[in-house]
Parts: sequence; C-alpha cells; structure tokens
Amino acid sequence: MARKSAKRKKAEKKLRNIIIIILIIAVVAFLVYSYINGTLDQVINTIKQMINGNGNGGGSDLEFNSATYDPAVIKEQALSIHFLELGNKYTGDSVYIKAGDTDILIDAGSRKNSAETIKAYVDNFCTDGKLEYVIVTHAHQDHIAGFIGKKSGGVRNGIFTVYQVGTIIEFTNTNDKDGALYKEYLEVRNAQVDAGAKLVTALDCVKGTNGGQKVYDLTGDGSITMEVLYQKFYDNVASDENDYSVCVMIRQGDNQYLFTGDLEKKGEESLVQENDLGKVVLFKGGHHGSGTSSNDFLLKEIKPDIVCVCCCTGSDEYTGANENQFPTQQFVNNVAPYTDNVYATSIVSDNADGYTSMNGNIVLTCDNSKDISMYFSNNSTKLKDTEWFKNNRTCPDAWKEQ
Ligand SMILES: [Zn+2]
Repeated sequence: MARKSAKRKKAEKKLRNIIIIILIIAVVAFLVYSYINGTLDQVINTIKQMINGNGNGGGSDLEFNSATYDPAVIKEQALSIHFLELGNKYTGDSVYIKAGDTDILIDAGSRKNSAETIKAYVDNFCTDGKLEYVIVTHAHQDHIAGFIGKKSGGVRNGIFTVYQVGTIIEFTNTNDKDGALYKEYLEVRNAQVDAGAKLVTALDCVKGTNGGQKVYDLTGDGSITMEVLYQKFYDNVASDENDYSVCVMIRQGDNQYLFTGDLEKKGEESLVQENDLGKVVLFKGGHHGSGTSSNDFLLKEIKPDIVCVCCCTGSDEYTGANENQFPTQQFVNNVAPYTDNVYATSIVSDNADGYTSMNGNIVLTCDNSKDISMYFSNNSTKLKDTEWFKNNRTCPDAWKEQ
C-alpha cells in the first residue's frame, strides 16, 4: 500500500509539472503572438484595468461614430447637444440642445457680440424663432452677455430680444445685484417675461414652487427629459458666484448627459451629496476645464465617456500661468482615468481675431436606438492628440497607455 501510494504521488507530481509546463508554454506563446501582432500593449492594459478596477483605465469603451458635420443630418436625430464656438477669443458657454421639436439653450456667453454667432448657428436647427427653454446658469458675463447683445438703432440683438422664449430657468442668487451687466440682463429678461415667458428659479424647479418643475418632459412622450438637480447654493449664500450654477441632467433612456455650468468644488460636493448621479455619457467639462472643478469625487460618480470643454484653449484671459490656462493640467489629470474622449471648442491664435477653431462646434447626437454620433465643425482630434496638448501639457499615465 505504502509503495503504491508513493508511486501515485510521484505520478501526480509528474502530471502537475506537465500541466505547469504546458501553462507556461501557453502564456509565453500568447505573449509572443500578442507582441508580433502589436496587441501586447492592449493585453497589458486590460490586465492593468482588471487590477485597478477602473473599468476603462483612461479609455472609455463607449462606441460612437465620428461623422462629417452636416446640420441636415444632425437635425434628423432625436437628440442633439451642441457646444458652440462664440465668435471671439473669449472663453464662455453656450450649449444648444434639440430634443425632438423642443429647443433649449443653456447660457449665452461669452460677450455681447456672441449673440450674432449663437443666433446664426441655432437658426440652422431652430426654424420657428422659439426657444422652449432657456437656462441661465449664473450671472457671469461669459454666460449672460449674449442674452443682452449689442444695441443698434435703439434695438438689441441679444438672444432674449431675437427669440421668443417659453420658460426661463434661472440661477436663484447672485452676489452682483448692482452690477451694470446684471442690470442690462434684467432689462432684456424682464421684457421676455412681459412678452409671456415663464420665469422660474432653479430652487423653484427642485421644490416645485411658482410653476417650476423638477423634471421637464422635453418630447411629450417621456423619451427625453431634463431634470434640474439640487445643489445647496440654490438656497445658501455662496462665496464664489460660480457655485450658484444651475445644474441639469438630460436623460434619454439609459443615457445621461450632465451640465453643471461653472460649479466649483463646494458646489460639486453638494451635487454629489444630494443626487444619485450615476454614469453619464457626456459631461460638459466643469468651469471651462478649470482645475477647481471636475473634481475626482464627482468624476468617480459620473464616469463620463465624453467630456466637452467650452473654452478658448491656451488663452491668457484669466491667467498668465500656462498650467492654469483652460483646459488646465489639473483638469486633464482628473479626467484622464475616465476617458480620453475630450474635446474643446476654440484655441488662441496669432491671427487678427486672436482665436481659431479647435474642434469647432462640437455636437453629440443620439437617435432613438441610442446610437451615439459625434460631429465637429472643424476636426475630430482628441485633446491629447493636438499639437497644443503636446507642447503645453504633461500627458497623464492613463492617456499614455492608450
Ligand atoms: Zn464661465
């Protein structure tokens, strides 16, 4: 018995060694095969991603078409979200959204002369002169100047003058009530209200007071909705005007698209605390790609597939410090672990205008089958592959692995 058992043990050991050798040969063969086929990096990345549990390890797995920019094609889609160039060298926001026949404009920056540029663009898609919803995130010039526009012959050409507006969803508070620009804004906004527009604050929306709604059905069949998300600076004084920003989530089936204006760290903290945000397909880069927004604790919740930044890339409008010019090094570092689908509207230039198109007008569309396409009026180059990025930013590890 003892001899038999020793023999069996020997046989088992032999078998085990054979299996180990076969496994080693298989692994080596696989690595050699991967190396020859140029897929070794991919394999290493996949293993790293499995270890760090980050899902995409710096590259979102969302598949989307990158199609030729064509307003006629875009117009046919159930939902389109447009990040606009603003016709000058100044950073600012204006996002136009078309959901079925419903037209929405979030902000109208960056200067009064942007009004013409915004209108010329929006009129490709909105042909009845009516914006069903206008959202004004906060009272800074680079978000409201285009609502005012320029005066010529006593008449303004701003968005609140040249369109009829259905509902205005406005920031609840501002620390600059005596500012000249804010007063001009109130003039044109009040004229809209006198003409029949419904005016509600973000706080009205989340509380359901004064006719505000928390969720708006944009298409009439519930297929695309817009929710005003609560954050505490709707009813608390903020030391930073940016923290008053109205935040909205557009939803289409399982797809979510998040807009937080210029919300800063404290506002983002509250937004995360107060809402079950969940994964988003698209995130408008917080505060033009500032390092004080798009914080990791927010990105961790929303894990964006695509991030669009409304800014004049590399401009010294706000600071001479290169790393803090939009989109900042900190923003790049924060976003990189989640996606490399990062795009920006404009870039500084030494031409007479002082700016030129980066990606240009950036458009995401999603049809009813939830197929996503991206369109760029200038080019589809990801931020990390641009000359500007290579010359001005340090590439984060997550983007090196791509
Ligand atoms: Zn801004």
